[in-house]
Parts: sequence; structure tokens; C-alpha cells
Amino acid sequence: MSKNVFEDALERVKSIGETSGVSAEIIDGLMHPRATMTASLPVRMDDGSTHRFTGYRCQYNNVLGPTKGGIRYHPDVSIEEVQALALWMTIKCAVVGLPYGGGKGGVIVDPKNLSPMELERLSRAYVRAMADFIGPQTDIPAPDVYTNARIMGWMADEYEAIKRVKAPGVITGKPVRLGGSLGRDDATGRGAYLCVLELAKQVDLKPEQTTVAVQGFGNGGYHAVRLLQEAGYKVVAISDSQGGIFSPNGFDVESIYKEKQTSRRVRAVYCEHSVCELVEHKSISNEELLELDVDILIPAALEGVITKDNANNIRAKYIVEVANGPIESDADKILDDKGIVIIPDVLANAGGVTVSYFEWAQNRQGYAWSLEQVHERLGEIMRSAFSDVWSLSKEESKSLRDAAYTRAMRRIGEAIEAHGTRD
Ligand code: GLU
Repeated sequence: MSKNVFEDALERVKSIGETSGVSAEIIDGLMHPRATMTASLPVRMDDGSTHRFTGYRCQYNNVLGPTKGGIRYHPDVSIEEVQALALWMTIKCAVVGLPYGGGKGGVIVDPKNLSPMELERLSRAYVRAMADFIGPQTDIPAPDVYTNARIMGWMADEYEAIKRVKAPGVITGKPVRLGGSLGRDDATGRGAYLCVLELAKQVDLKPEQTTVAVQGFGNGGYHAVRLLQEAGYKVVAISDSQGGIFSPNGFDVESIYKEKQTSRRVRAVYCEHSVCELVEHKSISNEELLELDVDILIPAALEGVITKDNANNIRAKYIVEVANGPIESDADKILDDKGIVIIPDVLANAGGVTVSYFEWAQNRQGYAWSLEQVHERLGEIMRSAFSDVWSLSKEESKSLRDAAYTRAMRRIGEAIEAHGTRD
């Protein structure tokens, strides 16, 4: 049987850990999630019947602070996937230096099949089941694939109703009116964009001559390519779960995004004054998009899309992992040998959790920051994390992924040493 996503994630921790100089005890500590809750969530459907969904929440590691990470709604959610994602959150928060450990949640559901009322009842049921597991000082959820600010708003409201206190810091990615932060909506994409700007300085990329393909047009992917296009990069391919489009001339990202809001599909349109017309393009599959001859490939959908089976066909020079875990560990070496530079997920998509941290800090302060402040501080954190990971990779001749994991594991190791032993 092939290994599951969690086993694959553990393999990376083990192999990178062994070359990072951290003790075997620390690596072993990172191989075991501290607690995972499984809950059955009964939800009253619109037709009067009751449907039971399964929900998970994993608190992977809390050495550096309360556990932090999103909640995913997807039919393929599994306990292994939630644990892998929670492990990656642990590494991610440590890479950018946030005072958080890692956690993650998920519900096995295809939210496209639920009415808005059913979605609200499911989200509230999740919080009822998890109310004593999560908390502003213990474990702080946020959005992930197919969850959004509206869902976070329902969840925060349910938590506050159960606890009979105002506790906006229990969840981040909330609507701004409920204590959400300005700049949280595009933070994941913006973080990735900031990484590309730093990369461009190191390898001398010229935006106008640099082509970009994005797989996935959700919150992370859309904002990453929107900002890159505004900076002059040429976005030549875009896809969503239904398939994609390619044009060597590049697309207008904003037009395609607006069209997707109405038609729910990625269509090759160009819009001016709300009049949209179809532009010349080639329809491509998600697999074809990954193998395009572009400069920058941005996988921004789900995990495990680049494996040892297709790694040899990847032609991009740079890969920016906006999705969590898009490359399986077996593919790492093949891509490295081809000289492809990968900005790993734990750095490239850390902008989201960084602005979540700002949101939580604002909630605790009871003071809201301006958008400029959010952008400035996000820029500082992303630039400094990028530069530290880049330097470490040069100094110790490691890939950027190995350097990022090494930095994270050393930080976690230092914290473990600092707090001593309790047993
Ligand atoms: N789901 C996002 C991630 O994978 C954001 C998590 C958060 O904001 O806590 O990084």
C-alpha cells in the first residue's frame, strides 16, 4: 500500500531532521501529534433529516505557543491529512517566528452540496463539538480550503454563545466587523508574492520576461497572481478544480476572477467596463498545467500533485508552493537534481497565518491596526524569514525546504531545551 500523506510528511521531518543537527529526541517529538479529536457532527438538513458529518481537530505541537491552523471542508479530508497539515503548521509558524505551535482541523464534506443554512449549522456543530478543545490561549482555528470569513464569523459567534464571553481571539480570519484584521483576506497570496519579489532580487528575474502558471484559483492562488501581475509578471496559465486555460500572451487576472464569481468557472475572458469577451486560449487539464514550460509554477490547490511520476516532466525553473504539501517527498530529489528552486509551503504560504497572528494580537489588545501597518509588518516578517532561509540554504548547501525545516526544528529544539523537563 502506498504511504499516506501523514507518513510522507513524517518522512521529511525525519530525513531533514537527521541533517539539521537537532537531537533525535526533538525529531521524535515532532513525529507524534499531541492530541487529535474526532467528533461526529449531527446536522439538521433543510429537508428535515439529520446527517452526521465527521470532524477533526489536531493540536500537533505547542512548544512555541498555542496551536494554530485552519479548518478545511473537503470530501477528501481524513485524520491523516489533518495531522499532516497540523505538522506543517508547526514548522510554518516556527519558520516565520510566530509565538504559535501547529494545529489543523477538517470536516469530511463537499460544501458545494450544502445550502448556506446547512453550512452554518455544520459550522456551529463543529464548534459545539470542539468548544472545550479550542480556545484563545490553547488552540486557534482559521480558514483553509473551502472555508472563509463568513464561516469563521459563525464559529466565533457559536463559541462566544457557549462560553458566554466575548472571545474574538478564539478564531482568526473573521469578518472585519467581528474583529477580523484588515489585510487578512489576501495575506496568503501577498506572502507568496513577497517571496517572489525576494527571489527575483536573488536570481535577477525581470517581471516582464517572467511567465507564471497557477494551479488553483482560490484565495491563495488568486491573490498571489493578481499581485504578481500588478508587478508586471505575465500570468499565462490558470486552473481551478474543473480544468484550466493557457495563453502565451498572458491573461488579465482580475477579469478571470470576476467571471469566476458569476459562472463559477475559470474562463479565458477579458473584461472592460463590465463587458467581457472570450480571448484566444488553449484549454488545458490540471496535469498539463503543471508541466508547462514557464518560469514560475504556483501549485495553489491541494497536496500531492507533484509526485515521483510527474516530477521529471516539470519544466518550470521555480516552484512557489502556495498550497500546503503540493510536492510529495519522493519528488524532492528529482526536482533538486533538475535544478528547480522551490520556495516551500512553510515559507511561501506563511503570510496567511502571519496576518492571523496580527488579528489575534489586535483582538487581545482591543486595538485595530490600519491596512498600512498590516502590510508593513507582514513585509518585514516575510522578508526577514526569506532572507534567513535563503542564507541558511547557501551556508549549509541545502535546498530552501531543508533550510526552512532546519530553521524551524532548531527553534523548536531551543524552546524545548529552555523549558527543561517536566517528567
Ligand atoms: N490555513 C492557513 C494555512 O494553512 C492559515 C492558517 C491560520 O491562519 O491560522 O496556513
